[in-house]
Amino acid sequence: MATLIAWAVVAGLCCLAVGLVLQPLWRRRHLARVAERSAGEHIEAALPKAVACWPALTGAQRQRLIHQLRIFLHEKQFHGCNGLDITDDMRCIIAANACLLRLQADADCFPAVRHILVYPGGFWVQHDQPDADGLVSDEPALLSGEAWDAGRVILSWEDCEAAARGDGGNVIVHEFAHQLDYEATQADGAPPLADYETWARVFGEIFEQLRDTGSPVLDLYGASEPAECFAVATESFFQQGDALQAHHPALYDLLSTYFAVDTRRPS
Ligand SMILES: [Zn+2]
Repeated sequence: MATLIAWAVVAGLCCLAVGLVLQPLWRRRHLARVAERSAGEHIEAALPKAVACWPALTGAQRQRLIHQLRIFLHEKQFHGCNGLDITDDMRCIIAANACLLRLQADADCFPAVRHILVYPGGFWVQHDQPDADGLVSDEPALLSGEAWDAGRVILSWEDCEAAARGDGGNVIVHEFAHQLDYEATQADGAPPLADYETWARVFGEIFEQLRDTGSPVLDLYGASEPAECFAVATESFFQQGDALQAHHPALYDLLSTYFAVDTRRPS
């Protein structure tokens, strides 16, 4: 009897090990099939107006964006808050801007993010977490977006729309840059990378410069902590590629290599 139980345990462990090895393969095949299906005629037709840097994307990058968008819309759940009805246009704008950050070959599409909560406009939050200076405020704050490492992103639709229209900031890109940051062991302004040395040098210089003198193209909020510096720089990279390249060429080159895209407008 004891031998029988031991064999059953061994067989169970073997099945578990095979499952663990094959699971990523099954997931990849499943997502490849999802990416072959259309996300909907209306959604894909709306793409050129959904992302401000669309004119800068090559044909291959646009196809890659559509591929990632289909997976994103299949995997994530959208929730309208304060009575907001989520439309196809909203889904398209949010998904497309998030997927801009995942154009690299073989990049996964934010696997940890499951829920996207969308408010009609800015929303009030009260945090009991200390800020970058270790202080806890008892005042509620009005936010346009927030990223939770538990896999939730919260967005203000008013600000998402402004980003699609070409505003200098982009709350969707900002919050999903934080999600990339969470994929590394520490959310400290660097996503998982092959070369941390160059990243730390370039971002270290930008962070100091922001603190000392500010920047014509980077929001001063980026000087609050390194994680915000990365999120703010990513916003500028996708919304104001030409200006970022003109004022901070080393930062532009670093982000262009990392995101595998050139966001400057074609002349
Ligand atoms: Zn932020």
